[in-house]
Amino acid sequence: MTPPDHSQTLLLLPGDGIGPEVIQQARRIAEAVAPDLNIEEGLIGGVSFDHHGDPLTTQTLERAKSADAILMGAVGGPQWDRTPRDKRPEAGLLALRKGLDVYANLRPAFCFPALASSSALKSELVEGLDIVIVRELTSGVYFGQPRGIERLPDGRRRGFDTQSYTSDEIRRVARVAFELARGRRGKGGKFGGVLSCEKANVMESGVLWREEVTSLHSESFGDVQLDHMYADACAMHLVKAPKDINVILADNLFGDILSDEASMLTGSIGMLPSAALGDPGVPGLYEPVHGSAPDIAGQGIANPCAAILSLEMAMRWSLKRPDAAERIWQAVDRALEDGYRTRDLGGLHSTHDMGTAILDRL
Ligand code: NAD
Repeated sequence: MTPPDHSQTLLLLPGDGIGPEVIQQARRIAEAVAPDLNIEEGLIGGVSFDHHGDPLTTQTLERAKSADAILMGAVGGPQWDRTPRDKRPEAGLLALRKGLDVYANLRPAFCFPALASSSALKSELVEGLDIVIVRELTSGVYFGQPRGIERLPDGRRRGFDTQSYTSDEIRRVARVAFELARGRRGKGGKFGGVLSCEKANVMESGVLWREEVTSLHSESFGDVQLDHMYADACAMHLVKAPKDINVILADNLFGDILSDEASMLTGSIGMLPSAALGDPGVPGLYEPVHGSAPDIAGQGIANPCAAILSLEMAMRWSLKRPDAAERIWQAVDRALEDGYRTRDLGGLHSTHDMGTAILDRL
């Protein structure tokens, strides 16, 4: 396939801790599979605070908005624990997500055959596993108002949050899930399209979720299988028969929990990529699921696969280079087949060795 006709920009934001170590390996891979790509770098998180007094400067946000895709490492570390809340590294990441309005969080949970024995489940349950969880990222109970902790007249305290969704917030994330499932035909078993999860049995927002997803389905996605399941039942199904499932659609809270559960099916946190997408034309934000791992930072032993597979997602979803994505995927698979393992996978290869092994197999 020929590369896109305009020059594309990939903005790297390595961040803190192991972020720069794993992003460096992703950069080597990007330069090899897409030599025409304009690769830039910027600061985010603690390192940006140290340089500029702000975990995300306006200038970096503007650069992110005008890029075609952003690949981030991770932010955070104990040295910034006493920084005011709005200047902490994590505030930079939240500001970036909000500034880009990336509302759909895609987290694949797949199992490379060579790693099936590292799963928390029996290998026959996870061999060939390939699920994507689409989690709503910018609304729901983590953002709903009112929220707070108040003192009641009788002296007790009351903590409260508000779970709230509007029909447009539900529809725009459901659309992402349906389009994704349309392109992933043949994956999953019994629930081979979109499996939408809520608690419509006990929550009003769940009733609305189910109604809106159903009506969007009948308007525009009749060719995609749609099933509904209560979120707690889905949590059980994920450990009982995960290969039944193709695409899970869930709100912010349930998606948070279900995606963490699914990640345990696949081996190490060092293998898991993610994407945050918004409306068409908005650059996607790609990042490993893991954090800055201060306990191993600077030792050169972090697993770079999550960052490299996040680059794979960027090639596929934002840069529209499926051939480059496929090459990356196959190279990671072959490096694992050939026995390359960082410490989290039970091996002794360094971050750089793993990057080189993947590079050599492109
Ligand atoms: P973490 O993901 O950084 O680390 C959890 C454990 O997994 C650690 O033992 C770590 O060594 C290991 N680990 C993580 N990534 C690895 C990799 N690529 N290879 C090998 N081992 C790996 O989570 P944490 O310890 O809870 O958080 C550390 C810091 O990261 C905190 O400041 C937290 O706020 C931040 N954080 C940032 C993000 C993000 O930037 N998106 C996400 C989660 C946590």
